[in-house]
Amino acid sequence: AEWAAAVSAITKLPADGRVLLICHVNPDGDALGSMLGFALGLRRMGVRRLQATFPGRPEVPEPFRAMPGLDLLVPATEADPDPDLVICFDVAAVSRLGDLADRLDRAGASLVLDHHASNTRFGGIHLVDPDAAATSVVVEKLLVRLGVPLDQGIAECLYVALATDTGSFRFDMTTPAVHEMAARLLATGIRPGEISRRIFDTRPFGAVRLYGDVLGRTQLEPLEAGGRGLVWTYATLADLARHEQRPYTLEPLIDSVRCTAEADVSCVLKQVAEGEWAVSMRSKGAMDVSRVAVALGGGGHRLAAGFTGYGSAPEVIEAIRAELGRDGVALDRSGADAKAPTAGRQDQ
Ligand code: 5GP
Ligand code: MN
Ligand code: MN
Repeated sequence: AEWAAAVSAITKLPADGRVLLICHVNPDGDALGSMLGFALGLRRMGVRRLQATFPGRPEVPEPFRAMPGLDLLVPATEADPDPDLVICFDVAAVSRLGDLADRLDRAGASLVLDHHASNTRFGGIHLVDPDAAATSVVVEKLLVRLGVPLDQGIAECLYVALATDTGSFRFDMTTPAVHEMAARLLATGIRPGEISRRIFDTRPFGAVRLYGDVLGRTQLEPLEAGGRGLVWTYATLADLARHEQRPYTLEPLIDSVRCTAEADVSCVLKQVAEGEWAVSMRSKGAMDVSRVAVALGGGGHRLAAGFTGYGSAPEVIEAIRAELGRDGVALDRSGADAKAPTAGRQDQ
């Protein structure tokens, strides 16, 4: 029923209907790729009055600056104040829409495409599939229902999204269906080596030096509840300034920290202002970090979650430690094998 409602919300748009696409603040590959891929699909359908945007500073991270469809992107300050249709991508909660949250009330209709289990069901029509490896999986299904064929532009966007959220097809939710979707995308002729090099394997020298500083102060502490470790580090605004790097440069750092064999849970605290941190958390399966994130005002998935933390770095870590000790955070691993595809999720 929701799929039919979504299709009709789009096909019943008047000829001059205005559509505003929004993805989450500090967009990652899935947020941008899902949004821009769908935007290109709508353009192919003949939708002319089309804007794509995200809240906050209108800065696309360098690795994504060659993506198709970027010409449709406008700064949040220029986003249509009352569009006929709003579509949200990879947004689990209204808080991730920042100043653009008011568009949901002002729009004629709203559609939410997402895959977060913690999705709060805001907005009108929900296409939320917690079993989807990325929001782009939901986007591809909707494009099929709309009769929009894949072209190279759409495919590249959806491939960036899928590769980002599956950790380059390494995480457990990399199902046969995920590889089948990747095959459909690659069949359009897009170049996976070139795309991966651009989005994952290219960074300025200053970033390499910055990683050295931040990884050099990583702490490993015992975790009472799980018996194993909590590993964490932090990056300050001064670190970024010293190496002349932008905040998005810090995003891949969690992947280096979470490698720590002795730790079940890993955290990276990224300073956004004095006493304010964007926190990334990852779990190897023993702990449900989305519970911790939700309790501290954020959200995410069981094995990958985040929130905004306040205070000093050790104070934020202390708050995380307290939440990790609560009932329901330690996962029952006895059933983990039986439901491996979801129990092993490590998505973004
Ligand atoms: P990352 O650590 O890669 O920024 O985020 C991991 C996961 O946690 C993503 O699914 C992301 O949507 C979610 N997440 C990260 N930060 C926040 C936050 O501040 N609020 C909410 N609701 N979710 C977040
Ligand atoms: Mn995301
Ligand atoms: Mn996602």
